Amino acid sequence: MKLNRRSFVQQLATSAPALTVAVSLGNRAHAQQAAPQGPPPGRGQMDGSPVGAQLPGQPWKVHDRDRPQPRKVTPGLPIPTPSAPSDALVLFDGKDLSQWLGRARGGAASEPRWNVADGYMEMTPGGGSLVTKENFGDIQLHIEWTTPPVNDPTRVGQFRGNSGIGFMGRYELQILSSHDNPTYADGGAGSIYGAYPPMVNPCRPEGEWNAFDVVFEAPKFEGEQLVKPAFLTLFFNGVMVHNRVELLGATSRLPIATYSPHESELPLQVQAHVGPVRYRNIWVRRLKGYDA
Ligand code: MG
Repeated sequence: MKLNRRSFVQQLATSAPALTVAVSLGNRAHAQQAAPQGPPPGRGQMDGSPVGAQLPGQPWKVHDRDRPQPRKVTPGLPIPTPSAPSDALVLFDGKDLSQWLGRARGGAASEPRWNVADGYMEMTPGGGSLVTKENFGDIQLHIEWTTPPVNDPTRVGQFRGNSGIGFMGRYELQILSSHDNPTYADGGAGSIYGAYPPMVNPCRPEGEWNAFDVVFEAPKFEGEQLVKPAFLTLFFNGVMVHNRVELLGATSRLPIATYSPHESELPLQVQAHVGPVRYRNIWVRRLKGYDA
């Protein structure tokens, strides 16, 4: 989810419920205006994004406030950060952004404008998202992230440490400060945004590092026809929270996620949204299958 930060701040100041919300992943951009009359039905508006379309195959709508929160699980003790295996491409080793380009929403690629310090890279206000220079299809991804504490009680829900991993720039795995920061279930850390919450919530407290280990299988198209959907598996701090779940399509709230044909390999995106969010130790392996 992409949010107009200035309008959010202005809205907070006046307590007006209407927020300008835009979803931006890759070339898909959807701008939507929340209903001005107040929160949607359900458990109340925990933050700015209204309830969306009915999810096919599930009893919930997108961002359904009645959907139960994922059960919290305390992950095991942090393990030493694993270095990349020999056949991985290191996307960030703590030193520079040489594997990345910057991309503002709807804009052209540019020099990346995130800060690099103390072994991590950090989203900067107005710095735009990052996209890899290389394209990827089926991958194993390791990525570590943390949301530093924010001393601002108005920064809750989607407005606290919000970023995301955009596989192929389209399929968002959500990053959020989610240890003690409720939001709609399909919008917390480790959710396939707007579709599936993580089965459980093993997010560590703010300031501690989390690890995502992902297997992403790219969708396959023949001409305009989808012949194989995308699948995603996620270990979140060593805890399995998605088990080869079939994705409904590119991340969207309204209309419901669907597939549009695209290239077999595309850049990986790290989303700029509502910081602060930091990343370190990012590497990816291209998956070629048996006997390859
Ligand atoms: Mg996000």
